[in-house]
Amino acid sequence: MNIICRTKGRVAFFLTITLCILSFFANGQTDTTVYLIYNARIVDVVKGNIRTENAVLINKGRIQSIGDHSKLNKNIPSNHLIDAGNRFLIPGLWDMHVHLEGEDLVADNKALLPIFITYGVTTIRDAASDLGEQVLAWRNEINQGKLFGPTIFTAGLKLEGINSIWKGDLEISNEEELNQALNKLDSWHVDFVKITENTLKGPLFLKSIKAAHARGYIVSGHVPMDLTIEEMADAGFSSVEHSSYLLRLGYDEKEIVANLKSGKISATEANNLYQGEFNQQKAIKGYEALAKKGLAVTPTLIGGKQLANFDRDIYLRDSMMVKYLTTLYTSKYQWRIDRMSNETPEQTAERKKKYALGASQVPLMQKAGLLILAGSDAAALNSFIYPGESLVSELQLYQEAGMQPPDILRTATINGAKFMRRFDTMGSVDEGKVADLVLLEENPLQSIAAVKKIYAVFTKGRYLDRRALDQILADVRDAKRRFDKERGS
Ligand SMILES: [Zn+2]
Repeated sequence: MNIICRTKGRVAFFLTITLCILSFFANGQTDTTVYLIYNARIVDVVKGNIRTENAVLINKGRIQSIGDHSKLNKNIPSNHLIDAGNRFLIPGLWDMHVHLEGEDLVADNKALLPIFITYGVTTIRDAASDLGEQVLAWRNEINQGKLFGPTIFTAGLKLEGINSIWKGDLEISNEEELNQALNKLDSWHVDFVKITENTLKGPLFLKSIKAAHARGYIVSGHVPMDLTIEEMADAGFSSVEHSSYLLRLGYDEKEIVANLKSGKISATEANNLYQGEFNQQKAIKGYEALAKKGLAVTPTLIGGKQLANFDRDIYLRDSMMVKYLTTLYTSKYQWRIDRMSNETPEQTAERKKKYALGASQVPLMQKAGLLILAGSDAAALNSFIYPGESLVSELQLYQEAGMQPPDILRTATINGAKFMRRFDTMGSVDEGKVADLVLLEENPLQSIAAVKKIYAVFTKGRYLDRRALDQILADVRDAKRRFDKERGS
């Protein structure tokens, strides 16, 4: 009897445990997949207005439906009902130009990934770095839910000529090496191809564009002296990184390039010709012609702005980011500080003039129909350009330059998604799309500064209110202190 009882007791005990585990999983599943954000002012970034509906139903990290609270509020756990309090709901922001770089900064870059989320940046495009394979691994881990951070699109390593100044690039000197390099990028499943011009000359640069384009890649990069932007676009070039290259269109670009190619003028002489009187009308015609060819441009104004004002400001001290960047990370800023300290007052004045001209062109490029991609160029080697924070600064510079808030919002949402060929699943608050969402205290259609006022972020199936976002920041700050201590810095 005693034995039977004990056995029965054990069976009951195991049954209870099993039921508990089962119900935990059942509850866990409901809890983690369905959310209702209601009482929201949903920003339609395509139309540039506020939608009439006020609620978004999220299931398994996707937007299942958009409608009215009363109709969607069915069988949702009470702790997954999120009252937006009439705040503004926008798609997560995209930073279309960052570098997760630095061979000795692997741990630092990894620890900084969640910072992007706290700034509402739910997607980043890594424009190649010396950590190419590591970035690819992070991209995959984030996609699989094993690592928390923004969705990453990456070029892996960039194509360059032999003996370039860049560390960790794919250096090529002929078509065979070009094909080998592209085979490598194929095997890594990179999201686009980046090409730069430090030592890669025009003819092989152009062949690289054509070959990458023929393999179906989006092709981004810099502009070499001995090619016109138009011939690059014709070869399949998708985006110019850094709008300063497009200033060439305000000069006799075709003639300068032709004379350089035929040996009539040197590279220095060509450069000098691009410093003369800028012809605005000619530039606008050039922008329009490139827009017709579908070219996009990532302005990256903030870098130029930081350097142009370098004599006045010491940015790190003023930045929020001083709390989160390790001493080793910010030590990389020094080379540029050293270089800038040798600049003459004339050079500084010239830099400021060039920055002002460059910034003034962004609204004109947008008006001409070029797809503008908001990108910060945040990277350890790009002094005083920070992950997350600098994307917000970049957007504010577009506003200062005269762009309208709805257009600015597009540069950091739908434009990135369109460019990466993901607009069917990302980039806007629409049914069927990935639920990367940011709740703002103020209306971003009135002033883009509203993107600084983040109340909550929804991404990767997780709802992060202000307290959760602040906890992420506290964790990153702790990691920074730990790294500094371990390194004795
Ligand atoms: Zn860059």
